[in-house]
Amino acid sequence: MKKTVQQVANWLQQEAVNGQQEWITGVSINTRTLQPGDLFIPFKGEKTNGHQYIQQAIEAGATATLWQKDEPNMPTNIPVILVDDAEEALQQMAKAYRAEHQATFIGITGSNGKTSTKDLLAGTLMPYYKVQKTEGNFNNQLGMPLTILSLDEDTEFAILEMGMDGFGQIEFLTKLAKPHHVIITNIGEAHMEALGSRAGIAKAKFEIIQGLQENGRLFFDGDEPLLQELVAQEKGLQTTSFGFESTNDLYADQIETNEEGSQFEVHGLLNGQFMIPVLGSHQVKNTVAVMGVAHTIGLTDDQIRTSLKQVSLTNMRMQLVTCGSLLFINDAYNAAPTSVRAALTFMSTTQMRPNKWVVLGDMLELGEQEEQYHHDLIESIDFDEIQTICLYGSRMKVLYAAIQTQYPTVDVVWSEQAYEPIIQKIEQQADEKTMILLKGSRGMALETILKHFQ
Ligand code: ATP
Ligand code: MG
Repeated sequence: MKKTVQQVANWLQQEAVNGQQEWITGVSINTRTLQPGDLFIPFKGEKTNGHQYIQQAIEAGATATLWQKDEPNMPTNIPVILVDDAEEALQQMAKAYRAEHQATFIGITGSNGKTSTKDLLAGTLMPYYKVQKTEGNFNNQLGMPLTILSLDEDTEFAILEMGMDGFGQIEFLTKLAKPHHVIITNIGEAHMEALGSRAGIAKAKFEIIQGLQENGRLFFDGDEPLLQELVAQEKGLQTTSFGFESTNDLYADQIETNEEGSQFEVHGLLNGQFMIPVLGSHQVKNTVAVMGVAHTIGLTDDQIRTSLKQVSLTNMRMQLVTCGSLLFINDAYNAAPTSVRAALTFMSTTQMRPNKWVVLGDMLELGEQEEQYHHDLIESIDFDEIQTICLYGSRMKVLYAAIQTQYPTVDVVWSEQAYEPIIQKIEQQADEKTMILLKGSRGMALETILKHFQ
């Protein structure tokens, strides 16, 4: 972006002091990553107060700063825009910049697969358009506005991830982003605590249509009855369903995987064979959503086929990692029942290596039913296919006990707190015929196990 201090002050309908004509070329909330030309946005949290870092911001080259009116010691050596609340000001700036921006905006929500779908869509459009997307997982009420403000003026497609942990949050984000198209990747069980039920989760995700532009389109997981119901109630909404069921507008089948990735057949709006250098049928499903969007915005089947061959995902999502003779599938970024089941399904169907191990870490934030969810994973483990199961974390104890009782001959270990017993088992018993899935919630940091072998 390129705005004068006064122009930004006008966006905020606030006063600028100590200078009005300097150019602001970006915004930053962190003095360590602040770039010369940025507007510094000092947040006041419970523990820290960004206003205290103003000198560091100036040294790093900030052009100007926001300053909350209730804060003392307003600096005099840098242009200042006075605001009531820095977070609200950030959102208001993003809204104003969004309103001026010519790009096509695409919003993505869902319980699992938002980041993956964002990366897959960006990778698909990138060879043909100037595309920018949410960095990492910047998907909340701060991250999304920051992403919008980081868009270059000539960007043609802006792909925004929208996350939530309660009602009203997606509504807030989508009304700010005003997307031209939106995707709901799936409905899982994450954030049951705040939303009560899967139906509650579906409703919260469905808020994304509230900001959809006229003539915009919703792409949704048509294998999910809860979403079908919500769509049926929405008269006049343009939709494209995707998934694996042949009732969808676009669906995939005949999925095959090898060390190159996944090949699959697509039917409906597009037809034919496609491949992605990514593993897991759930990633094929995300890809089908992406193909729907790419088709709608006018890419040809061949353009889509070509770019899908070279897409890549953010780290730790079904990532193939070879360490010496061992093959790991690093899916340790996060875990909730749906995504664990998806990863387990992949493990039971892949023929990449004959000896298949899974290392499963606790799934966090599941609320009152967490014990049940951990226990029920027993239904998703294919004991004929999976040779060894390593469980990590206190919540996995119930699954450990259930496996020992129901499948007494299965090779299973459980470690409550230490990675070492699992590392040792891998060191002693895994070999060039073994592939090992690592899957657990972020807090369990299962990549620690992988680091030991790298
Ligand atoms: P977060 O809420 O943490 O931002 P996210 O929705 O962005 O998560 P990803 O980071 O893409 O999701 O993936 C999280 C996990 O879910 C990964 O383990 C991934 O393999 C799995 N996953 C991705 N897509 C799907 C899907 N459509 N269905 C089930 N699991 C999926
Ligand atoms: Mg994400």
